[in-house]
Amino acid sequence: MEHTIACHGCDLLVDLRDMEHGHKACCPRCGHSLTQYRHDAIERLMAFSIAALVALVFASLFPFLSFASSGVESVMTLPQTPGSLWRNGLPAVAVLVAAFIIFIPALVLVLLLMLSVPLARGRYRPWLKPIGRWIFHLQSWSMVEVFIIGVIVSLVKIAKMATVTLGLSFWAYVAFALLFTFAMSVLDRYQLWNAIEAAEGARG
Ligand SMILES: [Zn+2]
Repeated sequence: MEHTIACHGCDLLVDLRDMEHGHKACCPRCGHSLTQYRHDAIERLMAFSIAALVALVFASLFPFLSFASSGVESVMTLPQTPGSLWRNGLPAVAVLVAAFIIFIPALVLVLLLMLSVPLARGRYRPWLKPIGRWIFHLQSWSMVEVFIIGVIVSLVKIAKMATVTLGLSFWAYVAFALLFTFAMSVLDRYQLWNAIEAAEGARG
């Protein structure tokens, strides 16, 4: 198994033997953070991914926001967010919003499960390496936290014109965004690759 890692900051090769649970490795030359070892990283990844997917399903089922202005109330769900952009003549924005806030994060979570479920049991699967690469590509294209901030900024503006009520789905989406962020924070490229190689080695 590979025990060295090249620092992203300065290309120094660092030996990472004998890391223990909770140990964090930094580059001795430039201080760049290299990896953190947790013996239960794969189980945590699996738990956060399942919880985040459940929260996302909840967030899609119930009212996200409701607006009341001069006696008229309108309720909006999460899937209706891109729908209303589409109807207002912004189809490209609608597709991007749907991709960034729902489909790409959901895809990342499903891929994380396809990776963490077999790895947690020490099983090798032929899709582990391609999926590992895909996750790191897609990771930068999910913008759940940007969406939450966008919603809060718009709410402050709308609150002056209408009475806004946050629905159950809003809180479910906040929980989803937190769990998704936790899952991403457990994801460690070096440790993941080591786990895949260990599973591959144990196969034969
Ligand atoms: Zn360095």
